[in-house]
Amino acid sequence: MNTQAKVTAEHLRKQAILYVRQSTLHQVKENRESTALQYDLKRHAQELGWNDKQTVVIDEDLGHSGATAMDRSGFQRLVAEVSLGRVGLVMGLSVSRLARNNADWHRLLEICALTGTLIVDEDGIYDPNHFNDRLILGLKGTMSEAELHMLRARLIGGLLNKARRGELWVRPLTGYVYDERQRFVFDPDAQIQGAVRLLFETFRRTGSAGQVVKHFSKHSILWPCRLFEGKRDGKVVYRKLQRGMVLNILHNPRYAGAFVYGRTRTRKGPDGKPHICSLARDNWQVFLPNAHPGYISWEEYEINQARLLQNGHSEGRDSPGPVREGSALLQGLVLCGRCGLRMTVRYRVLKDRRTSSYVCARRGIETGGPMCQFVVGAVVDEAVGQAAVDAVTPAALDVALQVFEELRARRADVDRLRRAQVERAREETELAQRQYMLARPENRLVVDTLERQWNDCMAKLAQAEAEYARAAKADGMLEPSSDVRERIAALASDFPRVWKDPRTSVRDRKRMLRLLIDDVTLARNEELIYVHIRWKGGATTSRELPRPRSSFELIRTPAAVINEIRALATEQTDDQIAGTLNSRGYRSGAGRSFTRHRIGYVRSCYGIESYHQHLQRNGWLTLPEIAREIGVHPHTAWTYARKGLLRVVRANAKHLLFEPPTVRSPFARPSKGRRRVSCEHYTTTAG
Ligand SMILES: [Zn+2]
Repeated sequence: MNTQAKVTAEHLRKQAILYVRQSTLHQVKENRESTALQYDLKRHAQELGWNDKQTVVIDEDLGHSGATAMDRSGFQRLVAEVSLGRVGLVMGLSVSRLARNNADWHRLLEICALTGTLIVDEDGIYDPNHFNDRLILGLKGTMSEAELHMLRARLIGGLLNKARRGELWVRPLTGYVYDERQRFVFDPDAQIQGAVRLLFETFRRTGSAGQVVKHFSKHSILWPCRLFEGKRDGKVVYRKLQRGMVLNILHNPRYAGAFVYGRTRTRKGPDGKPHICSLARDNWQVFLPNAHPGYISWEEYEINQARLLQNGHSEGRDSPGPVREGSALLQGLVLCGRCGLRMTVRYRVLKDRRTSSYVCARRGIETGGPMCQFVVGAVVDEAVGQAAVDAVTPAALDVALQVFEELRARRADVDRLRRAQVERAREETELAQRQYMLARPENRLVVDTLERQWNDCMAKLAQAEAEYARAAKADGMLEPSSDVRERIAALASDFPRVWKDPRTSVRDRKRMLRLLIDDVTLARNEELIYVHIRWKGGATTSRELPRPRSSFELIRTPAAVINEIRALATEQTDDQIAGTLNSRGYRSGAGRSFTRHRIGYVRSCYGIESYHQHLQRNGWLTLPEIAREIGVHPHTAWTYARKGLLRVVRANAKHLLFEPPTVRSPFARPSKGRRRVSCEHYTTTAG
């Protein structure tokens, strides 16, 4: 094909871009020849008709891997230039190396096709608008990606094969070493072994990683770590045990004697960055139990995992967590009635009293927003405790036993029906079988149909039987023996006694509650707290509790009094208001009578203006002001007031205010400048 024919005058008017890339710095250093070849292409462009000025070299990505376009500013610049239609020719050594990632490559091809850009490599010149050229370029890209994949597969395949045989060298964990025959064995150092055993023992006892850390810290036991690199290879260093370390150890199946490989997978996220995610056990690449001696048995490992999951530490799940020492009975059991998240407990010490409350702060903490809601703990604990005591009474248990009987009787009925269904299927099968047996063999068509019917019936029978077995198993309930009944009856009288016994610890109370209750949902408004208890087994109980007033609410002036003060303040001074309220029998929040000062304080808290401010706002004047207004000496103005010609009132303890005259006196002197505004005036005279 005539390659020159592909280059048109239109192409020659635009730039030619040479994209130079070597994946690694090592390649940049060692593979000079390839770099030289890449620059050789520049000469090729000149042969095709581009002059030196038009040829741009992009070599910013020297030393960057081509696996993705992220972090390759050069490649991104290339794509940008091409998509702006400024490029007539793109050159690269074996063009597929422009982008090792197929998606990037095809995107580039598409843009080149749209903008009519040619592509050149050492093999020839391609026009992405031509089907044949596009096919070859696509193939080159695919092969390039395949090459990368093969390289990786060969590397990882070797590792995986070794891992499958359990022979892959993995950095030994604390408590293990490789012996001279490369076997994974217990660390011969007795102190290290002791520390590992103590960790597992403590977890067995306490069931919490945090408690393990506390135990180590309380007894000043440090955690040994053997170094495996550098000058200090084989040395042991001691450091403080941390919760994260404990969790890693508890989650690591190697301590239970299993060899594992590929417990995580790295995935590229939408941002192009790798994300590591843990896999479920079924998806681990290699799992060889009993590959080496273990500090714990596999059974214990499983129990530990279940326990950690419940503690909610393992995967940050929303779970109740272990019972702790605090006094809040519902710790871990409370759900927020507003947003559905689990509420946590917050303790506070007020004076010498320790109070607890349930708070929903998780979303607030995560997003930096306000707390969702909080509910005072004591009242809720009291109500739920009482509900538990009420639930476990002889009468309630009697009812429960009766219901149980009832259910059993009903189940027996259902069982009879189910068995009848199986019987019927069996009869139909037998009938089909008999019909098949009686048919004449020479009548092939009939025989075939009958045989099919018989087969169908047998399948139905098998299905009915399986169904019956499954249902019977699901129903499998034991009839309580008389002994069990007696014990249940005894529990009814024992439970309230134990619950109320002051010797019963909070921890035990919490454990008892957890046996009875699945969770408690709390919601509140200004007046009430709504408590919904979900019992084990699905029954629910709801309670509405009056919301306890907080200490400041208890001494807050009642709303009715505030309204009263607001109304009175337009016609009375603080002194008068206090008198009025006292005479009407009102008392402050703390139960005391009102004084001028208390009224002043309440007014300032609620932003109610005083009588003085109210009058001034309505244009009432001080003595000098009124004198100037009517154009007389203040003494004269005062005389007018005493004679009743001017209306005057006492606006507060210190000040008198005069009603402005409706008609301006003909003797008034022209006022000099603007009269001072009332509020400014107020502050100067009041001060
Ligand atoms: Zn909430």
